[in-house]
Amino acid sequence: MSTSIDTRCVQGGYRPGNGEPRQVPIIQSTTFKYDTSEHMGQLFDLEASGYFYTRLQNPTNDAVAAKIAELEGGTAAMLTSSGQAASFFSIFNICEAGGHVVASSALYGGTYNLLAHSMAKMGIACTFVAPDCTAEELDAAFRPNTACVFGETIANPALTVLDIEKFAHAAHAHGVPLIVDNTFPTPVMCRPIEWGADIVTHSTTKYMDGHGAAVGGAIVDSGNFDWMAHADRFPGLTTPDESYHGIVYAEKFGREGAFITKATSQLMRDFGSIQSPQNAFLLNLGLESLHIRMARHCASGLALAQFLSTHPKVAWVRYPGLPGDASYGLAQKYLPDGTCGVVSFGIAGGRAVAERFMAGLKIAAIETHVADARTCCLHPASSTHRQMSDAELEAAGVAPNMVRFSCGLEGTDDLIADVAQALERA
Ligand SMILES: *Cc1c(COP(=O)(O)O)cnc(C)c1O
Repeated sequence: MSTSIDTRCVQGGYRPGNGEPRQVPIIQSTTFKYDTSEHMGQLFDLEASGYFYTRLQNPTNDAVAAKIAELEGGTAAMLTSSGQAASFFSIFNICEAGGHVVASSALYGGTYNLLAHSMAKMGIACTFVAPDCTAEELDAAFRPNTACVFGETIANPALTVLDIEKFAHAAHAHGVPLIVDNTFPTPVMCRPIEWGADIVTHSTTKYMDGHGAAVGGAIVDSGNFDWMAHADRFPGLTTPDESYHGIVYAEKFGREGAFITKATSQLMRDFGSIQSPQNAFLLNLGLESLHIRMARHCASGLALAQFLSTHPKVAWVRYPGLPGDASYGLAQKYLPDGTCGVVSFGIAGGRAVAERFMAGLKIAAIETHVADARTCCLHPASSTHRQMSDAELEAAGVAPNMVRFSCGLEGTDDLIADVAQALERA
């Protein structure tokens, strides 16, 4: 029976049998026992499915990953230790030394560093394109060795909305998949696969957990990309894997299973980065209320953005759900029910006034975090970017007066009142 996203948040992934635990059990075991070596050998050959060592797979993680696959409308998924691991694995699974990535320049800072610096050291080049580039500019970014395109549905912290169809169309015209980091909207607000994305990644640390309790990540495969049709570009999926007795992932596991099976059996095996089953359990508790929480995060984000947009002490507001915002049109298309709870704005008067505003907040806490049940906010110029001059900040696209404000689940009116009093005192 096909169910709504609300029901999938609560009941997806784990379906206990008669007399089995109602809640996803935490399988706190590094290893699994077998009666014969032969049986275990079949697992090692990927001939039978089952568990043998939690660095590769664990039943708790798989139940929660299956829920996230159902939420995104994908065919397979895996959990990773962090969002950063999810981003890295999603790209490295199909892009090796000598390869190239096309990415939107509106990215999470960690993802930018991964692509611009760490993956560059591994011999993987990246061309960054503006999220609002024309189809021709996007087309010109591709090279013969391009292996994938990467972008964020709602970029953190730029809050621009990715034109998913535009990026998917360009990727597919060049025979490569589109990977979308869907952390900020979550599948409750947007399901990128429905718009043409092939692979979806998450920092589950944010809204999915939602309680600031567990760092984690996830990768979901749509099962739509035809690796065999572009076999020469993806030898890792379409030629024999000597470390698994010559298995060809795309042949043996098909479109729906090849990507995640390879990422599990090669990348998890060799790089680790599994999520702990404890964290997967906490993540699942968060997912059970995700649909309820997102509605409040989004309602408070919009109400705060509207309040700020008419306040005399506020120089500018960025919120994709706010009419007049540069991304409003794309938000209406891809996120008609709401965007996220994060609002960024500039305080009139600059850096020093912004610092006084931060000090005056009573409910919102100063944190390097977003998308939590508790409201948090950050003034990059006096914290994460404090070594930079005003001119350097402007060049990096971070205004000296910018505040990134993540609306939690407290009363909307209380959050607005807190911001109002801190603005008065600044
Ligand atoms: C936080 C974040 C990440 C990184 O996730 P971690 O869980 O902190 O490793 C990646 N992408 C986006 C959009 C994020 O907000």
